[in-house]
Amino acid sequence: MKWKKSSLTTKIIIGLLLGAIVGIALNQFAPNAFPYLDSYLFTPIGKIFINLITLLVVPIVLFSIILGTAGLGDPKKLGRIGFSTIVYFLLTTAIAIIIAMTLANVISPGTKGNFDISNVSFSAGEAPVVTDTLLNIIPKNPFAALTEGNMLQIIIMAVLIGLALTALGKKTKGIFDLVEQGNEIMMYLVTLVMKLAPYGTFGLIATAVGSQGFGAMKAMGLYMVVVVAALILHGIVTYGGTVLFLAKKNPIWFVKNFAPAMSVAFSTSSSSATLPVSMETAREKLGVKDSISSFVQPLGATINMDGTAIMQGVATIFIAQVYGIELTMAQMLTVILTAVLASIGTAGVPGVGLIMLAMVLTSVNLPVEGIGLILGIDRLLDMARTSLNITGDAACALFISEQEKVREQMRA
Ligand code: ASP
Repeated sequence: MKWKKSSLTTKIIIGLLLGAIVGIALNQFAPNAFPYLDSYLFTPIGKIFINLITLLVVPIVLFSIILGTAGLGDPKKLGRIGFSTIVYFLLTTAIAIIIAMTLANVISPGTKGNFDISNVSFSAGEAPVVTDTLLNIIPKNPFAALTEGNMLQIIIMAVLIGLALTALGKKTKGIFDLVEQGNEIMMYLVTLVMKLAPYGTFGLIATAVGSQGFGAMKAMGLYMVVVVAALILHGIVTYGGTVLFLAKKNPIWFVKNFAPAMSVAFSTSSSSATLPVSMETAREKLGVKDSISSFVQPLGATINMDGTAIMQGVATIFIAQVYGIELTMAQMLTVILTAVLASIGTAGVPGVGLIMLAMVLTSVNLPVEGIGLILGIDRLLDMARTSLNITGDAACALFISEQEKVREQMRA
């Protein structure tokens, strides 16, 4: 069993590397063959995998949060866990942006190289307004929330149902059992779908890498280096620190065991699609309590996006530098605040972080067209930041779960 599990991780990583190699090779040496292989091979393989896991997201969030809330039993405990989770999410996101802006100011990627701003363009379209997201958190129609896959609304509804199940006890035992069995079915399906992960990862990465314009990467190299360095730094310092000091576990053990979920996030660029996998991995391999994982990870996949905030922090400084605009201290604080809010409002799907960047730029009167500069290379960075996004949720889940275990031991 153990051999089988570690071999799946290895297979996923091989799929990821092969996808990257094939994508780069086709892009460089057979650019004419790429569109055919992509339409008939890579995209279908990737799509089948991504659709299969996305299919599980809404039922898993609904069932597991109902069970998680009912499993916690007492609303006070729910309040305590909810509070610690949200404080952790907000604090770590703020730390992420501070790391990002500091690195961008020190390395100053926007002042090195020639950037042509005469014809860049970007239309922000309809970036969701954060206050709307917060106000809409209570669903008017639960079925609409489910069909639209509106995560925050589903979370609220599931918490309410969970509380009712706890209060009604024996009377609603039938429904409780039904939800529990539904959850079992979904978790079983996650394990099944994960068997396809190595192939899905291969297809998704081959498409993403093969369709890149590598020419654009040269000009944007330093910007990309700063974003990736900030992602790695935040991962090591903030999450490493969380695992080591708060959860009292070994960070290397954490990364090794959580790697399959990180690879799936990397290839799908979607926290939301990765959710079933990241929950299963946290429970099975990191030993996170089911009731905590049910609650912390879906919430995190929706509102906690440190990787996205890092890209936004670096991008804001970069765009200011390219346009020769000096940001004041007050403006930098505004960026921190708006990027934390943007992280809450960003949906866990590919590319939304870039749309929310428009809001951050507008808050300090920077030109939104500047996004046009980083548009071409954002797909690759999206992969890396999504990996970090879900890692933050897992680090938080592990910390809260270990803290609860200690409390239980002390009570026993
Ligand atoms: N793709 C990211 C995620 O799903 C969001 C973003 O930064 O665009 O976590």
